[in-house]
Amino acid sequence: MADKEIVLVSACLVGINCRYDGTSKRDVRALDYLKNKIMIPVCPELLAGLGIPRSSAEIDAGDGYDVLSGKARVLLKDGRDFTREFINGSREALKIASLSQATTALLKDNSPCCGVNYIYSKGRLIRGVGVFTALLIKNGFAVASEKELAQ
Ligand code: SF4
Repeated sequence: MADKEIVLVSACLVGINCRYDGTSKRDVRALDYLKNKIMIPVCPELLAGLGIPRSSAEIDAGDGYDVLSGKARVLLKDGRDFTREFINGSREALKIASLSQATTALLKDNSPCCGVNYIYSKGRLIRGVGVFTALLIKNGFAVASEKELAQ
């Protein structure tokens, strides 16, 4: 048990119904990849205090790094500014990541929190990382998305 790799994972990838619409993005390849590892599921948006269901969110300009440096905001679909909540939720999730002693993370792409290669901005998919992903990378974690498993 102790010699098993510990991997932080976006909770929705392993079947937790924590997405904005109350669904998951259960991914068979992710579950297969995690089979002989210790998985630590986290959802930064729930840790941000957002409920289920909730409005979907997007980063308005730039990506997660820009949100962390104050150059971009996270806006809910109805226009409300949830930048502070997303940063707080990502910080709480980082605490779990650090306490778990994980050094790698498997994250759900396209999400404003967990995106690794792409995020949505103004309704379009653009290159960039989510807020939680940016925080993980800044703290030395190696990150990958479920899409990279599929390659
Ligand atoms: Fe999944 Fe991350 Fe979105 Fe939570 S914040 S629903 S874990 S992609």
